[in-house]
Amino acid sequence: MTIRCDFLMLLAYLLLSIAAASQTTANLETSDTKLQLEAGTNAPRLIALQSGDWRNRATESPIPTVEIDGRSIQLDWTFNPVASHVDKKLVSFVYDTVSPRLRLTWEWEVRSEHGPIEHQIRIENRDSTELWLPLEPSFVFDWQEALQDQLQHFYVEKGADTPSAIGTHLLAVSEGYEWEGASSSYAQPRPGEAREIIPYFLVERANGSQSGWYVGVEFSGRTHLTLTRKGVSLRGKVGLNPNPGPFRTRLKPGEVFETPRIFLGATDGGPDATANVLRRWVREVLTNPDTWKNPNYPLLVNNSWGGGMAVNEEIARHMIRDSADLGFEMFHLDAGWFRGVGDWYPDARKFPHGLRPLADEAHARGLKFGLWVDWAQAALNTAPGALNVRDPEVRGWLTSDLPPDWKPEEFKGQTIDIGVPQAKAWAMRETNRIVDDYNLDMLEHDGYLVAKGCDASDHPHAPPDPLNQCTYRDAGFEFVSSTNSTDVNYHAARAYYDIQSNLRQKHPGLLLEICNDGGRMVDFGSAAHGDYFSITDTYDPLSNRRAFYDASFVLPTAMLETYVERWPTARTGNFRYMLRSGMMGWLSVMIDTTSWNAEQHSAAKEELELYKKELRPLIRDANLYHISERPDGLHWDGMEYFDPNARRGVVYAFRGSVENEADHKFVLHGLSPRSRYQLQFQDHSAPEQIVEGSELMKGGINFHLPSPNSSEIVSLRELPAPTD
Ligand SMILES: [Zn+2]
Repeated sequence: MTIRCDFLMLLAYLLLSIAAASQTTANLETSDTKLQLEAGTNAPRLIALQSGDWRNRATESPIPTVEIDGRSIQLDWTFNPVASHVDKKLVSFVYDTVSPRLRLTWEWEVRSEHGPIEHQIRIENRDSTELWLPLEPSFVFDWQEALQDQLQHFYVEKGADTPSAIGTHLLAVSEGYEWEGASSSYAQPRPGEAREIIPYFLVERANGSQSGWYVGVEFSGRTHLTLTRKGVSLRGKVGLNPNPGPFRTRLKPGEVFETPRIFLGATDGGPDATANVLRRWVREVLTNPDTWKNPNYPLLVNNSWGGGMAVNEEIARHMIRDSADLGFEMFHLDAGWFRGVGDWYPDARKFPHGLRPLADEAHARGLKFGLWVDWAQAALNTAPGALNVRDPEVRGWLTSDLPPDWKPEEFKGQTIDIGVPQAKAWAMRETNRIVDDYNLDMLEHDGYLVAKGCDASDHPHAPPDPLNQCTYRDAGFEFVSSTNSTDVNYHAARAYYDIQSNLRQKHPGLLLEICNDGGRMVDFGSAAHGDYFSITDTYDPLSNRRAFYDASFVLPTAMLETYVERWPTARTGNFRYMLRSGMMGWLSVMIDTTSWNAEQHSAAKEELELYKKELRPLIRDANLYHISERPDGLHWDGMEYFDPNARRGVVYAFRGSVENEADHKFVLHGLSPRSRYQLQFQDHSAPEQIVEGSELMKGGINFHLPSPNSSEIVSLRELPAPTD
C-alpha cells in the first residue's frame, strides 16, 4: 500500500515536472501590435505588449471553482501542451481539470496584417453533469507603469437617445484614478449617471510619444471595462459585466462558454491615428465583405418617417417617385406599415395591395427597398402569425409577465427573450419570411430587441434572484433587472448574432440596419452582424454631428448613420447645413421630401450628387481627422477626410449659431508638407486656390461664411509634383 502511494506521488511529481518543463512562450504580431504570451503550469498570461513597452504583471485567472448541485467544487487547472497550438496567426494554450472534466482554451488570434490582435477564452464542459460557472473575465491586465509617466485615457459614449454635451472623453490618469465603462444591448441614459460607452478605450503616454494601447469588446451584451492607477500599477478588466452579481451561467455537458472576444492593439499618435488603424481593421475583420463590394455603400436613403405612422400606399408611392427624382438610392419604409406590433403583415387599410408592389415600384425606379421591423416585440394582435403575449407559448418567451390590463404602444410591445431556443427559431423564421414576402433589400430592427434582463426561471439563462429583482418601465418598454441580467444578455446577444447570420446566409446582399431606438447598441459585436448603425435618436444638425464626432473615433464612418429630420431652414444655406450635418457618414433623410419647395429640391439634388461623386469614396476609404473641438452648435466645427492613395480629400466646415463669427481657420492633418493642393469651395465662399501642404497643416484653410448655421465643403486634390 505504501509502495503504491509512493508510486502515485512519484507519478504526480513527474507529470508536474513535465508540465513545468513544457512551459511555453509564444509571440504574435501585426505591423502595429506585438504580444508575448506565456503558458504557465496553472495559468497563462500575456507577458508584454510592444516588446516590453507595456509589461504585464497579471496572470490570467482561470475560474477557481464551479458549482455542481449547489456545491462549490475547487478546480485545479493544468497546462496541456499536447492540445495547445502555436503558429504565426494563432496561439491557443489549453488547460484541463480532471474532476469535473473541463477544458479552458486561452486564445489569441491575428486576423489582419495591421491593427490589433484578438483574444477569447472558451470553457468546455467535457463532463457528464451540468455545472454552473462563475464569471471569467475576457482579459485582465496589470501593467507596470513608472510613477512619473503621464497617462491619458480616451473613450467615447454611445449617442443613445441624445448625445450628451461631452461625448468624447480625454482624461489624465493620475494616481488613484478609477474608472468603469459599461455597455449593453440597449443603452438607457439617465441624468446624473454615467452613459454607456462604445466598449473601447485607449490609454496613451502624454509625454511626447503618445505611445499607447487600446482594447475593445466584440460583444453586444452587458460588458464592462475598468481602469485603475495605483502606485506602479495600471490595471483593469475587460469582459462580461459582473454587476448586478453574482454572475453565474449554466453549462450543460458538451456546451462551451465563450468570453466576449476582445481586441488589443498598440498605437502611437493619439486618438485619430489610432482610429485610422482601428476603423480599417473593423472593416477588414469584422464587417461583411459582400457589403463593401457594392460601390454605392453607404447608400443614400429616404425614410418614410417624415410622414410618421400615417404612411400608406399612396404616400409611399409618392415618396418613392420623389426619392428617385432626387437621386436617393433606397426607399426605407419606417414604422406604420404593419397591422400591429408583433403582427408583421401590411395593414390592409393602408396597403391594400401589400408591400410587394411598393418594392417593385422602388426597384423599377432604381431604388432599393428597406423596411422597419421591431421583430422581437410581442403584443395583442390575434391574427395567425402574430406574436401574441397571451398565447401560452409566446407568454413563456416573454422577459416578464404582464398585468391583465397591459397594452402595447403604437410601435412598441413586450420583448421576447430570443435566448430561448423556440423564440429564436420563431424570430429566424419570421425575419426570413419578412425579407422574402416583401422582397426586401434592407431590414432594419428597432426597439428593445436583445433582452438584457428577464424574470423567467425556466429559460436557458440563470434564474433571477427574487430578493434582488426589479421591473421598471423606460422608453416605452418593460425592463427587468436582477442578478441574472448579464447572463440573460449573454444568451440573447448570441441568439441575435445567429439570427442576423442566418439572414445574411439566406439573403446575400441584404443590408441590415441596427437601430434600437437610435444609438443604443453601437458596439463591435453588432458591427460584425449588421451593415450600419443609427448612432443617435435625436436628429437635429448638432446632435447628428456630435454623435458622428464620437462614434467616428472607433467605427467605420460608412456604417455611421445619421437621420436628418425637419429643422428650421429659413435660407438654402441653412438647408444645406442641415443636410451636410448628416453627410459625413451614412445619410438617411427623414423628412417628407415632397414638402420641399423647388429651391430645396434642387439644392438637395446637388448635395446628393456631391455625396456620390466626392464624399462617398472618401467616407469608404479615406483617413479621418477631427480637426476641431467637438461641435457645440455655437462656434465652428469641422471634419477632414484625406485618402493618401487617391490623393484627395475633403473638409466639412460648419459655422454655428453665434453672430459675429464669420471667419474661421481649420488646420489640416495627414497631408504631405511639400505637396501642393488644389482647393475647391463647393459653394464658392472662396475662390479656387493652390496651397502647399505645409501651409495647410500649419496655417490652415480660411473660411468665411457670413450667416450663422451655414456650411462649406472644400475638395482637396494633391497636385502631381512638378517634373524637373
Ligand atoms: Zn429569459
